[in-house]
Amino acid sequence: MTPDIRFDTVHPVDDRYTPPACGELDEITGVLADGRLSGGAPVLEIYELALAGWFGAARAVAVNSGTSALHATLIALDVRAGDEVIVPATAPLPTAMPILTCGAVPVIVDTAPRSLALDPADVSAKLTSRTKAAITLPLWGYPADDAAAAPLLAAAGVPIIEDACQAHGTKIRGRYAGTIHRAGCFSTHDRKLLATGEGGFILTDDEELAERIDFYTRLGHLKGHVHGVNYKLAGPLAAIGLRRLRGLQRQLQSRRANAAQLLSALPEGGTLAELGYGQTDTPNYYNLVLTAEDSAESFAGGFACAGLPPDSVRYGYQPLYHRPIFAPYATACPNAEALAAATLQIPVHPGMPQAALQWVAGRIRTLSASHAERQRP
Ligand SMILES: *Cc1c(COP(=O)(O)O)cnc(C)c1O
Repeated sequence: MTPDIRFDTVHPVDDRYTPPACGELDEITGVLADGRLSGGAPVLEIYELALAGWFGAARAVAVNSGTSALHATLIALDVRAGDEVIVPATAPLPTAMPILTCGAVPVIVDTAPRSLALDPADVSAKLTSRTKAAITLPLWGYPADDAAAAPLLAAAGVPIIEDACQAHGTKIRGRYAGTIHRAGCFSTHDRKLLATGEGGFILTDDEELAERIDFYTRLGHLKGHVHGVNYKLAGPLAAIGLRRLRGLQRQLQSRRANAAQLLSALPEGGTLAELGYGQTDTPNYYNLVLTAEDSAESFAGGFACAGLPPDSVRYGYQPLYHRPIFAPYATACPNAEALAAATLQIPVHPGMPQAALQWVAGRIRTLSASHAERQRP
């Protein structure tokens, strides 16, 4: 017997995942017993080593948010007032805000058609002698493969920062997102796959960059040689992250299985399809993302009424320059506009009971069938 679950605009399918207890309290108790709760607690080093090990990066630096991770990385790459930073039009506010925090100028570029990757033609059109960094964004945990734009940026000496805040465990050409370019920035906010409440970390294979980030985020280690801020992650939060990291692989498996179950419900030859990615890529299914080329708006409305509001409805997601604070940096980005308009995000987190997944699959089938009916001449 499946329980009678009903979802609607008032009671949408919950897109927030609360992981079950996995021994976090034991880990926190250890930190409390030690007594050092600050970002100087011994657990921080253990957490950073565990993160570097899990992702296969040379270094991990833990900080107090994904926003801090992005800001500290930009600063450590020498981005200063008046410098330019390339950012895709698909970026949500938290990706681009740290550019403004540096006093730098966001240069918004389009994405490649039907892709989250930076559009190489737009990148080369907008590169200048003041371009100091470029941010790439595997949004919704979907691979952003920048194989086309990366050589252009490398030739110009511009480092790429991966905003992997939604992409823990996403693989691009067989490698984890956040370990492919100069530095990867992650958030461990409650909504992310690894959740510590607030928090974040940076991964890099560049030891010198890791040292600069470490010094910047820890007040220059109070030596007085360099400018620094206090972006340290508190000990008890590192303890939560350390314990939850053990379950990340299982969470990824569960999300992939849930996504596969919903994808198998998509009618053959219908207009709904999964957002595309390369054969050697794997999304982490932060969300399952479907596209409806010709009719996303009517689907978005139908999904919302069925209790499955896509991000465009739930959060008003739209390309960056539609937000007033980024409007002065607006340029024509038709591909990002089309992508934002054509995508539907659906939660597939492990907290969704089987009955909810079946219900969602049923809604997808019904909405596709009624769409096909309307299309009939
Ligand atoms: C969550 C998020 C951030 C910011 O992380 P915080 O920890 O909330 O500061 C940045 N970029 C993206 C894509 C995010 O999803």
